[in-house]
Amino acid sequence: MQEILGKITEKYPPAEAEIITRAFELAHKAHQGQERHSGENYITHPIKVAQILADLNLDYETVAAGLLHDVLEETQTKFENLEKEFGPSVAFLVQAVTKLHRVSYSGEKQYVENFSKMILGTAKDIRVVLIKLADRIHNLETLETFKGDKEKIALETLEVYAPLASRLGMGEIKALLEDLAFPYVYPEEYLKTVEVTQNQIKENKIYLEKIKPRVEQILKENNILATTVSARTKHLYSLWKKLQKYDFNLERIYDLVALRVLVPDVSACYETLGILHKYW
Ligand code: MN
Repeated sequence: MQEILGKITEKYPPAEAEIITRAFELAHKAHQGQERHSGENYITHPIKVAQILADLNLDYETVAAGLLHDVLEETQTKFENLEKEFGPSVAFLVQAVTKLHRVSYSGEKQYVENFSKMILGTAKDIRVVLIKLADRIHNLETLETFKGDKEKIALETLEVYAPLASRLGMGEIKALLEDLAFPYVYPEEYLKTVEVTQNQIKENKIYLEKIKPRVEQILKENNILATTVSARTKHLYSLWKKLQKYDFNLERIYDLVALRVLVPDVSACYETLGILHKYW
C-alpha cells in the first residue's frame, strides 16, 4: 500500500503530496476493519482509484478526493470534518461523488441521455465525473467477486459511462471501460470474439514488432522527431462491433493491430504520413 502511495505522491510537489498523504491516512483509518467483496482490505479500492487519477495527471485535490471518495457513504466521517481537514474543494468533490452514487440507471435505453445529463448536472465540477469513472474502472476490475448485480453495473458502464468518457475526449478510458464490461454483458459474444481474433492478432503483433524498428529507422533518416512509435491492438469490444458489421469475416478488418507514431506537431504529422506512404 505504502508503495502505491509513494508512486502517487512522487508526482506532486511536497505541499500537495502532504495533503494526499493525509487523505490516505484518514481514509485508511476510516475504512479500518471494512472489506471489499473480494475479502481485501477496503483501502485497496480508494488507493487504486487515486492511482488511476494520478496516472491521468489530475490535480492533487482530485487525487485526495479519490482517496476519500467512499468515506462519507461507507464510514462515520462527516462532511464538516473533511472541510476542516482538506478545505472546501476536496470536501465538495467527495460529497458530489457520494451524491452521484445515488443516481442510478434504470437499464432502459430511452433514459440514457437523461441519465448522462443528470450525472453532469449533479457533478457540477468535471473532476467529480473523473473520480466516478476511476471508481467505475476499479469496480469493474474487481467485479468478479462482487456479490450484487454484476450485469447491471456492466450494462450501465457500456450505455452510460463509456459514452460519457468518449464525450469528454477520453478515448483510452472509454475503451478500457468497454473491454472490462464486455464479458459481463455479452459473455458468449465476448468468447466468440476472442476465439475468432486471437491467432490473427498474435500473428499481426509479431509482424508489427518486426516493422517497428524499420519505421523508427526511416523516421530518423528523414529527421522526424517521433516521441514514440508503439504497436496497439484494437480493443475487443470495438472489434466485436465491427465484426458484427462484416459477418465475422476477419479479413475485412484492416485495423486489428496498428502502429501508432506520435510526433510533436501537426505539420510533422502530415510529413510523417507522406514519408511512410512511400514505403507502405
Ligand atoms: Mn468506490
